Amino acid sequence: MPLPPDYHTHTPLCRHATGHPREYAARAVQLGLPELGLSDHSPMRTAFDDWRMDWEQFPRYLEMVEEARADFPQLPIRLGLEVDYLTGAEPWIEELSSAADFDYLIGAVHYIAPGWDVDNPKHLSRYAATGAEEIWRMYFDLYEKAIRTGLFDFMAHPDLPKKFGHRPGGDLRRFYEPVIQALADTGTAFEINTAGLRKPVAEVYPASEFLQLASAAGVPLLINSDAHDPAEVGADFDKAIALAREAGYTETLRFQKRQRSARPL
Ligand code: ZN
Ligand code: FE
Ligand code: FE
Ligand code: ZN
Repeated sequence: MPLPPDYHTHTPLCRHATGHPREYAARAVQLGLPELGLSDHSPMRTAFDDWRMDWEQFPRYLEMVEEARADFPQLPIRLGLEVDYLTGAEPWIEELSSAADFDYLIGAVHYIAPGWDVDNPKHLSRYAATGAEEIWRMYFDLYEKAIRTGLFDFMAHPDLPKKFGHRPGGDLRRFYEPVIQALADTGTAFEINTAGLRKPVAEVYPASEFLQLASAAGVPLLINSDAHDPAEVGADFDKAIALAREAGYTETLRFQKRQRSARPL
């Protein structure tokens, strides 16, 4: 069975990943992946937090991807970016999108309010203080807004606020449905992200129920590792492929210069 590409991987420039892109490429070749994509966390124009490259380092990011391409001419290596959506960030994201010859841009929501990155363990106590219901509402509202900008080719880790195991009660489709509608309306895809299996929640992003609704709505998907270490490239793709097929998916996407094509799964 053909493996899908892995389009969500990081570099040491973000200060919490390890390994040069050429090491990620070596692992992709070893696994027999058809393509690899680098998608490090997007720089902001000025200093912002401690988990992304500085804007001044962006040329080095492009250079490292070129170095990996030079070392692995047999492997298509795509250039992407995991772009943080923040309210009002649209002009900066547009500027970023023309700053390089990107194959794709991943839209991501980590910040649900200024200074509050929902997946950062330093804010764990807020789940008790604010409650999962409100945190999920803040996150999914922004996630839908990010999709509706139409700036992204696909969206990262759809139900990220479950990372530490916190979920609101009741039927969670009330969070998923508006997002899936936005994906369908804008022609945006999303990913199964296997990094969730390596977090306390111990399951992929998104939940199977999300996958089934998205499949029924005809929203395309990708399967990605979110590797922050070369050893994580392609991690648990067997599980993700099985979940995608169970939900009715028969293909994934590939991207080149922001043009998509389907690939049988
Ligand atoms: Zn990261
Ligand atoms: Fe992320
Ligand atoms: Fe990531
Ligand atoms: Zn990510």
